[in-house]
Amino acid sequence: MTVATGRSLRSSAELIRAEEPVLAHNYHPLPVVVSRAEGAWVQDVEGRRYLDMLAGYSALNFGHRHPALVAAAHRQLDELTLTSRAFHNDRLAHFAESLAALTGLDMVLPMNTGAEAVESGIKVARKWAYDVKGVAPDRATIVVAADNFHGRTTTIVSFSTDETARAGFGPFTPGFRVVPYNDLAALEAAVDETTAAVLIEPIQGEAGVVIPDDGYLRGVRELTRRAGCLFMADEIQSGLGRTGRTLAVEHEGVVPDVLLLGKALGGGIVPVSAVVARREVLGVLGPGEHGSTFGGNPLAAAVGSAVVELLGTGEFQRRAEESGVLLREGLTALLGKGVRGFRARGLWAGVDIDPAIGTGRAISESLMREGVLVKDTHGSTIRLAPPLTITEEDLHTALAALEKVLDQGPR
Ligand SMILES: *Cc1c(COP(=O)(O)O)cnc(C)c1O
Repeated sequence: MTVATGRSLRSSAELIRAEEPVLAHNYHPLPVVVSRAEGAWVQDVEGRRYLDMLAGYSALNFGHRHPALVAAAHRQLDELTLTSRAFHNDRLAHFAESLAALTGLDMVLPMNTGAEAVESGIKVARKWAYDVKGVAPDRATIVVAADNFHGRTTTIVSFSTDETARAGFGPFTPGFRVVPYNDLAALEAAVDETTAAVLIEPIQGEAGVVIPDDGYLRGVRELTRRAGCLFMADEIQSGLGRTGRTLAVEHEGVVPDVLLLGKALGGGIVPVSAVVARREVLGVLGPGEHGSTFGGNPLAAAVGSAVVELLGTGEFQRRAEESGVLLREGLTALLGKGVRGFRARGLWAGVDIDPAIGTGRAISESLMREGVLVKDTHGSTIRLAPPLTITEEDLHTALAALEKVLDQGPR
């Protein structure tokens, strides 16, 4: 039962049971029902508090309900929320200007979700290949990496290598070539005169925070420049502060031709994504050739501008880098004590748990009982990606909970 405010009077267990018959089963959430949050902490229906060490897969880089972002949203809600792109709105110019300036690129195509940004990037790259590069009609190819995660649309799962994401959803979109990640020779062999773009994640998030060897991103940059195709970086999860830089590609000092952003761009409040690119690339789009009813809406632009402003201070990148040192130290101390290995950059880690102790799911459930929320990925890997605003004390609390859970031994 709910009261008129929408506040639930039902327990967590009742709410979980109520979902079962009416909600598509495309997720397997941890059995926690969140009803409030602030900063790095969330609270469930019964009032239990948990540290959020997932942060909405990096959509909550600034924490839950960051005051500056909530204020920007509130202000905009009282002025104007939606116009569609049939008209101009007074927030969009500033959003595009500030995002282009932040990334060092020229033009912005505002969309909503990450998958839409990827889809839009693919369309733009193909159109660039025909209009600018001169690829024969319908022959453009895009080279992608194995174990990628770029979203869930039909075209995007067409080049996924995860059978669970693909099975049952064919027929698939042609025009993609898959090569191993972190393998420049394989990439070089796959690129030819039909190649519109190389599309990769600078760090593969869903794959388990897989960081390529130093030099890989520079190699991709040089190779794509030499081959005359675009370097399209999906920074939807790695971007906007997570790794200790505004963009993960900055760790190798490279600038891609096309940048895909999402998740944290919406400040954890509204879905905001964007394709950001050089003028020569995004300039291929003309009126009517692509669009989105909600893309670039005033509420999204106001929140997105506030996000860009926060990133402009450099504070969040610095915090990710500094707290990232603590995270790595904490995980290093657990090596051989239930942690088999880990990969980390900034405030982002993929932690391989000894399978003898439990699956990633089992560890996540145990951590939940200790008041820490994480998400498993493949097999026995868990992913840690707290809000960049997390305090040192809270980070220690999370690491202590992990140590305790691992100490408990097999489950
Ligand atoms: C989450 C994610 C996407 C898809 O974003 P949605 O908003 O869920 O559609 C695409 N690419 C990467 C790297 C992601 O992490």
